[in-house]
Amino acid sequence: MDRVIVVGGGLAGVRAVESLRGKGYEGGLTLVSAERHLPYDRPPLSKAVLAGDSDDTTVDADWDALRADLLLGERATGLRLDGRGGVVASTAGDLPFDGLVIATGAVPITLPGDGPQHVLRTIDQARDLRSRLVEGARIVIVGAGWIGAEVATAAAGKGCAVTVVEAADAPLAGALGPEAGAHTAPWYAGAGVELRTGVKVAEVRDGGLVLAGGGRIDADEVVTGVGVRPDLSWLDGSGLLLERGVVTDGSFRAYAGTEEPGSLRPDVVAVGDCAAWWSARYGRRLLVEHWDVALNAPDVAAAALLGQDAVYDAAPYFWSEQFGRMVQYAGSHAASERMVLRGDPSGRKWTLAWLTGDRLDAVLTVDRPRDLVQARRVIAAGTPVDPGALADPDVPVRQA
Ligand code: FAD
Repeated sequence: MDRVIVVGGGLAGVRAVESLRGKGYEGGLTLVSAERHLPYDRPPLSKAVLAGDSDDTTVDADWDALRADLLLGERATGLRLDGRGGVVASTAGDLPFDGLVIATGAVPITLPGDGPQHVLRTIDQARDLRSRLVEGARIVIVGAGWIGAEVATAAAGKGCAVTVVEAADAPLAGALGPEAGAHTAPWYAGAGVELRTGVKVAEVRDGGLVLAGGGRIDADEVVTGVGVRPDLSWLDGSGLLLERGVVTDGSFRAYAGTEEPGSLRPDVVAVGDCAAWWSARYGRRLLVEHWDVALNAPDVAAAALLGQDAVYDAAPYFWSEQFGRMVQYAGSHAASERMVLRGDPSGRKWTLAWLTGDRLDAVLTVDRPRDLVQARRVIAAGTPVDPGALADPDVPVRQA
């Protein structure tokens, strides 16, 4: 292999470049990214950058040592696969490759309507939104998910009049389920933020929102935080199997056509927010739009591209900082049987655990980082826990 193209200059893209060089790949390496910035971290955008505590989140990478050609501000527009290798069509011209890393991330979903709405994905969007978070401004945020809660935190901190509108009956209902998410609802009022659940938005108009059931909410700024989707339009017609994300095996190798071992492309990997990878741990495909995957998975993808054996089998992990709390989650509760609380959710620090039998599937910790670390270990090992001991916040999370 002597010509690798990495498409997408987010964290997964830069980590793929670093991993390829770290594993001894000496051939040509080109990173194509639609953004004109060097790769940067996104988690601070809705935290320190909005709060005004940081303005630059560029990833600390030694580009000279990495010997990568950077095509910034250039977009891949198409992909043609040959028997082995192929060509990426781009705004910088045709880029032939014999190894390809797809790391194009995701783009925010927007609401219907012709009124102005902010989304938060890029540093430019974060700086623009920050300039509008001024005292007294009426900021209406659609979506009480991770991003919505963090933007509400920053806006309330700036003295804005903040309303969060959520279609479900509780914040974070999509990510955690309504029962778990409901424990976070009081945090909004505690920060002076109005939370309106069960409210569906019809469209964004100049000056605010029009609601599905009639009525409107006036706003100086509307911020939409209703989720993201991989932007895979440049892969249309390439023959790669796409289903919400680029479908891959547990080593992030993409399939051409059907999901059968014979269709795997050893020369094409997809990683980060755009990849729907097979998890042997969970026996299903996962599409995890979180920083930890973008940080760690490219090492496996790079190994696979270089023909080495490597499988990604980590349990998902992410964090969020909202309303003065550090919220962390590890594992997957999609098929869990029940929940166990450690501590009182009306208090400052508590943990929620999801179990199936005596197996710990997942935890949500609120200002209990020690629980998170201990639970992550147990989840990774798959060892049983004592559910009674787990319910006691004074007993460490450990195997039975
Ligand atoms: P991205 O970061 O989206 O990078 C993809 C890059 O590819 C972009 O630069 C894009 O412009 C470029 N691109 C797209 N299409 C093309 C094309 N056709 N040609 C060339 N380039 C293209 N995760 C957590 O775990 N905890 C957090 O607290 C947290 N906070 C977040 C806060 C914000 C505001 C955001 C936006 C995300 C947050 N995340 C958080 C999620 C985390 O940042 C993402 O999971 C991570 O950035 C994914 O990295 P990626 O490289 O896969 O994709």
